[in-house]
Amino acid sequence: MRTITRVEGPCVESNGQRLLAFCSNDYLGLAQDSRLIAAWKQAADESGVGSGSAHLICGHRREHAELEEALAEWTGRERALLFSTGYMANLGVTQALLQRGELCVQDKLNHACLLDGAQLAGATLKRYPHADVDAAARQLHSDDEACALLATDGVFSMDGDIAPLPELAMLCARESATLMVDDAHGLGVLGDDGAGSVAEAGLSERDVPVLMATLGKALGCSGAFVAGPASLIDGLVQFARTYIYTTAMPPALAAATHCAVTLARTENWRREKLNALIQRFRQGAEQLGLPLMASRTAIQPLLLGDAQRALEASRALEAKGLLVVAIRPPTVPQGQARLRITLSAAHEEAHVDQLLEALASLRLAGAPV
Ligand code: PMP
Repeated sequence: MRTITRVEGPCVESNGQRLLAFCSNDYLGLAQDSRLIAAWKQAADESGVGSGSAHLICGHRREHAELEEALAEWTGRERALLFSTGYMANLGVTQALLQRGELCVQDKLNHACLLDGAQLAGATLKRYPHADVDAAARQLHSDDEACALLATDGVFSMDGDIAPLPELAMLCARESATLMVDDAHGLGVLGDDGAGSVAEAGLSERDVPVLMATLGKALGCSGAFVAGPASLIDGLVQFARTYIYTTAMPPALAAATHCAVTLARTENWRREKLNALIQRFRQGAEQLGLPLMASRTAIQPLLLGDAQRALEASRALEAKGLLVVAIRPPTVPQGQARLRITLSAAHEEAHVDQLLEALASLRLAGAPV
């Protein structure tokens, strides 16, 4: 494990070496924004550091309530509920919504915590090949229960591609299944005001009744929320164990996150800059013949195939002052090791050019091995 001793924009210091990082999920460059820091400090001055208890005891503060309202409004949902992490949100939702033996259909590349949640609930978990709506339909259809849950990432964390949300929504409507989208990597990045992959696809709360997203990525903070109809939120408050039995996030974190929501919604230049950097990277990588994957989001992996090759590429980049992590099995399927490059509005064009120059020198062009 690497210890980071200093962070400055997209650069980090580790072991006394300054590295330009392409591995943070701070896609909009908000994590170090002075306004977030000021909001955090002011709330800490007023409310202290810890919330003191779980939400249902006496930990639910004004800062939490205000953030929940802002998140519900942003995502066009009736209500929203905060969780301390995305992992806990997904465990909590699946465990609260699924009875033992009920069907949960999931994309094979969903994040680990969605899969873990279904298993923890004792649900019958069926995983369809990545983004294969027909296969999902067959899995849903094989069950005569009407209360199946179909869960998908909005943007896939290791591939960067976007789920076929309109088709999945139609399928769920047809089969009377509930659609849940984990938009950890879409919120803030996709959609006109950053409301995420579901909003970008033109889908509403009716189509996607369970929307989950994290606060530690594009919003630059930490934590997560689930948004949807009041009946869903009431149910989670009653039954989601990872909501009930844990300390509420620090109120100062909620205040800083509220500030991040306002900035993510209104500072469109962040998304525009990010998208321009994504295009610049993809054009440069294409010219170099690098093994790009089909992604238009901030996650721009290079598929290298062999785990050792990915590791060596990551080390060679580090020797050139760049921090890019190698992702290997079991996080990704066998034979699909990759460099997971993430871009951020905190980067400049010159940073992307520096990355492309370093990648060019590694001779990564060609098909994965
Ligand atoms: N869902 C997805 C798609 C993720 O990528 C992650 C985190 N990497 C999580 C959930 C978990 O979120 P958290 O880090 O807040 O626990």
